[in-house]
Amino acid sequence: MNVADSQRVASTLEQIGCQGAVRVEEADVVILNTCVVRQSAEDKAYGYLNSLRSLKAQRPSMVINLMGCLVGVKSSEKLKQRFPFVDVFSPPSDAGPLVAYLTQDESRQLEDGEVTRRFALMDDGPEQVSALHLPEAERGRLVSVHVPVVLGCSHACTYCIIPYRRGVERSRPSATIIAELRALAAQGVKEVTLLGQIVDRYGKDLPEGPNLADLLRMANEIEGLERIRFLTSHPNWMHEELLDAVASLPKVMPHIEVPVQAGDDQVLENMKRGYSAEDYRRLVEKIRARLGGGFPGVSIATDIIVGFPGESEAQFQNTYDLLAELKLDVSHLARYSTRPGTVADRRMEDDVTESEKMRRFRLLEDLQENIAAEINARYLGERVDVLFEERVKGRWKGRTPTNKLVFLESQEDLHGKIVPVTITWAGPWSMQSRLA
Ligand code: SAH
Repeated sequence: MNVADSQRVASTLEQIGCQGAVRVEEADVVILNTCVVRQSAEDKAYGYLNSLRSLKAQRPSMVINLMGCLVGVKSSEKLKQRFPFVDVFSPPSDAGPLVAYLTQDESRQLEDGEVTRRFALMDDGPEQVSALHLPEAERGRLVSVHVPVVLGCSHACTYCIIPYRRGVERSRPSATIIAELRALAAQGVKEVTLLGQIVDRYGKDLPEGPNLADLLRMANEIEGLERIRFLTSHPNWMHEELLDAVASLPKVMPHIEVPVQAGDDQVLENMKRGYSAEDYRRLVEKIRARLGGGFPGVSIATDIIVGFPGESEAQFQNTYDLLAELKLDVSHLARYSTRPGTVADRRMEDDVTESEKMRRFRLLEDLQENIAAEINARYLGERVDVLFEERVKGRWKGRTPTNKLVFLESQEDLHGKIVPVTITWAGPWSMQSRLA
């Protein structure tokens, strides 16, 4: 979500005549886009802020924009006091305050003959850029782009800070999204991933729909676009109609990201997730029955938090057992990190020690590595269609429909092409191939 937001800011700045700088030190405008989903991410943001403090001291004309979840949607007074060298504060997904700062005040407008203003974006995301008008350096180069379709979140899981910082759930109008997807396809983009904190709730707040299945049907018609994905789904909103759309639309990939977070009913209740482990088990069965059908079937990814307040050894074991039983393709693992203002922060004690969180994390990591190795081994010798995105250290890098990472050594220009390959090696995190 943050990468997509950064991309939008970059493209907006280009539209008002700015140009991307290669290094932060060379920039006239620096945008620091922040994430606070865990304490480690927040600490990283403070680290960046400290380095900007000294840059600004050396070059006071540099405009510094702090953006994203560290700022949030409420008052930024406290941050202003703490970081007085920051010129502009903006909430997530919003380039507005910076654009206003750069364009509305005469004294800050460029004088005749002055060179273009150069900007640098800092965040933790991979360096890639998107939006309606791809920034110049990226045009024709970017193959896969993330497009937010639902902003904010109103669910309020007890551990999660996102609703407080990104505001209430808002679906973007389908006409805007479709126009954006068409523009991206016209600029050479082959794959889009539709984003939302609970993406399967898309349209619930729009007067007459449409829902995510409708949106996928519309996107599927766009010429030039070859692959469509969406994330992240919440188990309670993954309905038959959505699965039917995934099953029947050729461009929508068989890849579902649906976090379970924990495999123990009491922990799930404490997290206020709204389902039981058994509900999740049944959902996975349903997804596989509808989208599985032989090799390679559907791939399912989940998110897990270990060490949630009060999580006992037995409760953790339930999570372990559920993952061992379901054998999902990917588990994104996190150690619980208390977040200011959340229900868990206010009413529960962060009582699982760091070393115990780490131990549980490692147990799941090992389990998942074995499961992924076992699933991926089925690809050996098989032929799959890979969309290649870029060359990394002489090898082409791409993804299968099920989102598996595949490398290929080839002198041909495979950029943005879907190519049939045969898998020659398969490990838990990636595969190697040759042209089929
Ligand atoms: N809206 C999505 C993703 C939210 S953030 C969802 O509901 O699934 C991505 C992941 O970060 C979450 O799925 C969760 O596993 C993790 N996460 C969120 N808050 C966290 C916290 N306080 N501590 C540790 N991990 C957290």
